[in-house]
Amino acid sequence: MPTPEKPILLRDLKNYLVFLKDYGYSDIPLQPDSILGSGSGKSNLSRPSTETTRQPIMTKTRTNAKPNLLLEEVREELGDCTRCNLHSTRKTIVFGSGNPHADLVFVGEGPGADEDEQGLPFVGRAGKKLTEIIEKGMKLNRERDTYICNIVKCRPPENRDPKPDEVTACNPFLIKQLQAIRPKAIVALGKPSASTLLGRTVPIMKERGTWHEYAGIPLMLTLHPAYLLRAYTLENRRNVMNDMNKVLAKLRE
Ligand code: SF4
Repeated sequence: MPTPEKPILLRDLKNYLVFLKDYGYSDIPLQPDSILGSGSGKSNLSRPSTETTRQPIMTKTRTNAKPNLLLEEVREELGDCTRCNLHSTRKTIVFGSGNPHADLVFVGEGPGADEDEQGLPFVGRAGKKLTEIIEKGMKLNRERDTYICNIVKCRPPENRDPKPDEVTACNPFLIKQLQAIRPKAIVALGKPSASTLLGRTVPIMKERGTWHEYAGIPLMLTLHPAYLLRAYTLENRRNVMNDMNKVLAKLRE
């Protein structure tokens, strides 16, 4: 195998250190695998106490810490997860679906009833609308050109919002999914997803269509397809398509 160039190694090292700092570590872990915590409780690193307020779940530096991380390894590590209470009411873990090397990742909030049944994200009515946006609107292929996942992988009962401790428990796996995929752009679907990714309450009607950054990856905020179905106005549909056109332009850069 060719040896990586020194500048690339230095860049990756710098990004790794910034990533650790932003993620709250004050020491350098000896085992790189432990930086995000697998939920196994094995890490003995110094970390700040868990806060109950929303926290940004990734650093603003593109995570090159584990460039060889594979999505299937992340799924394997997740296992038959019982790290938060959502495991007790779920039928299936909805890890994500699509191309593990996609340039574009859509992130929703959590699985609903249809997703819980089938083990796949965005397969209900809202999912069909998302597919329509991707395939008819953006002229992309959902499975080939995108990867779709959620902030929490198990359905919150009665489709309630995930609780902060549930988001915190599941965060490492979303982070690792993005590390493995390393897309060119992320789209946050709806206010809860946008708020969790940015670590603040996002007024989605005001901020949709604007670019942000998440882990060094351009992040577009847009309306959730379920909201679009509820408020199926010409204005909302136009707004979502305008947002997606911005994403397409970003992918072409
Ligand atoms: S929501 Fe995430 S952390 Fe909680 S049980 Fe499901 S997979 Fe595990």
